[in-house]
Amino acid sequence: MAKYLIVTGGVVSSLGKGITAASIGRLLINRGLSIRMLKLDPYLNVDPGTMSPYQHGEVYVTDDGAETDLDLGHYERYTGQPTSQRSNITAGRIYWDVLHKERKGDYLGGTVQMIPHISNEIKAKIRRLEEENPDVIVIELGGTVGDIEGLIFLEALRQLGTDVGRDNSMYIHLTYVPYIKAAKEVKTKPTQQSVAKLREIGIMPHILVCRTEVDLTEEHLEKLSMFCNVPRSCVIVEKDVETSIYEIPLVLAEQGVDELILNHFRIAKPTKPLKDWQKLVSVIKNPKGTVKIGVVGKYSELQDAYKSVYEALYHGGYAAEYKVDIVKIAAEDIETNPDILKTVAGILIPGGFGSRGMEGKIRAAQYARENNIPFLGICLGLQCAVIEFARNVCGLANAHTTEFDEERGIKTEHPVVCLLEEQRTVTEKGGTMRLGACPCVLEKDTKAFSAYGEKKISERHRHRYEVNNNYREQLEKNGLIVSGTNPEIGVVEMIELADHPWFVATQAHPELKSQPVLPHPLFRDFVAASIQNSL
Ligand code: GLN
Repeated sequence: MAKYLIVTGGVVSSLGKGITAASIGRLLINRGLSIRMLKLDPYLNVDPGTMSPYQHGEVYVTDDGAETDLDLGHYERYTGQPTSQRSNITAGRIYWDVLHKERKGDYLGGTVQMIPHISNEIKAKIRRLEEENPDVIVIELGGTVGDIEGLIFLEALRQLGTDVGRDNSMYIHLTYVPYIKAAKEVKTKPTQQSVAKLREIGIMPHILVCRTEVDLTEEHLEKLSMFCNVPRSCVIVEKDVETSIYEIPLVLAEQGVDELILNHFRIAKPTKPLKDWQKLVSVIKNPKGTVKIGVVGKYSELQDAYKSVYEALYHGGYAAEYKVDIVKIAAEDIETNPDILKTVAGILIPGGFGSRGMEGKIRAAQYARENNIPFLGICLGLQCAVIEFARNVCGLANAHTTEFDEERGIKTEHPVVCLLEEQRTVTEKGGTMRLGACPCVLEKDTKAFSAYGEKKISERHRHRYEVNNNYREQLEKNGLIVSGTNPEIGVVEMIELADHPWFVATQAHPELKSQPVLPHPLFRDFVAASIQNSL
């Protein structure tokens, strides 16, 4: 039977619970266990698909097309284990399903209550993962202990522990141990209170992971152990790392966290060094050089809106043993001052919705094309590159995507990007989002093919608009190379330029599949070309 590892957070949010849970997942895989990871989100949105990047960072898309919390990105980057629709459960989804069942009469007229109906629904959704037969299911509960919204989830997680038994469940509490500068003192009280709150609900944490900015002394650790009723050996320190969040698996391994978990679950597996991660961290700490890459976006002031893109760029750098210095450029600024682009060795345009900054992005694609600057266009980035090419190389004035012209009530003169249903040659119904993994066939002798090293690939999508096949011939005649096509619906998946050091764009979101120890080939080659350009 699957073992459950349940990670909760205390004191404050933003402690890196997702990264800690993912790192623990990595340690378990390294010990030869199969795992599944699961994020419980206590907010009432049914899924994060429509949440603003301002509030919630990027939407992470899985192979099966679920629009999920960005923590799933951490899970995949650290563990290499794909997540799915089942890996993210929001309170909104739980209530929605229970209320639908109630309307259908599934509860036979009984009173529908938080306990047992909501708690049972939570447990049932968690336990679906058992069908995949993993050794361990790692559950991360979003939010902080004490949140009203999270209470019913904690109750369900408490019950789950009883349902599966002590040997099959383990609770890890990630907490914050602050250092008060004025008093020059480390404070354990918030952690004591947070654990007390957990105990009130009936959960006794087995392991305490203490996030801290400073070193904790033996005295602090003893105190935490005693007041929180956790053996001293199970009080783990997770001090702020010096250079990279990818150090965390090593920090936890050093303190034997995997051993504690295996012992608790009574699983015997030989210890193994985390060799690929040790090598990774040594590359991160001693880069051969730095390369500046400009990311031209709409949400450049936000840390998390392009999370996976930024991470994939760093990964591309690791492949060359370089540090990528990301220059966040607001697309709107390029509209008035394209010279900002002079400072970077490579230009990336990420995905996006909404017309703000669109003309700046198109200018950035033009600048990259005309000045031989390595360019990677992602989703909207591909659409910008095609629009730019249509306008400035094919001479199609006012070429655009119908997405933004429609917003302004204008009929697009040359709709080089539009909905599938707006294209005469394609009969399929469009208008809905193309979500999740889609196949693509690459043309030989292209940069895309040389990056991937194979003809048939699959990447994840999240968009509505496509390159208009009615313009494909004209674009190709003028030198645009369509290097990848969807074999099922015949739409353009990838484009590139011939007489250019490296200009590649994809309709998909390759950043979602990059791992630090397995950088995505497009990001690897894009960063390598940018390094070449900077030398
Ligand atoms: N807004 C564009 C579309 O829907 C691009 C979406 C994206 O970049 N993810 O097609």
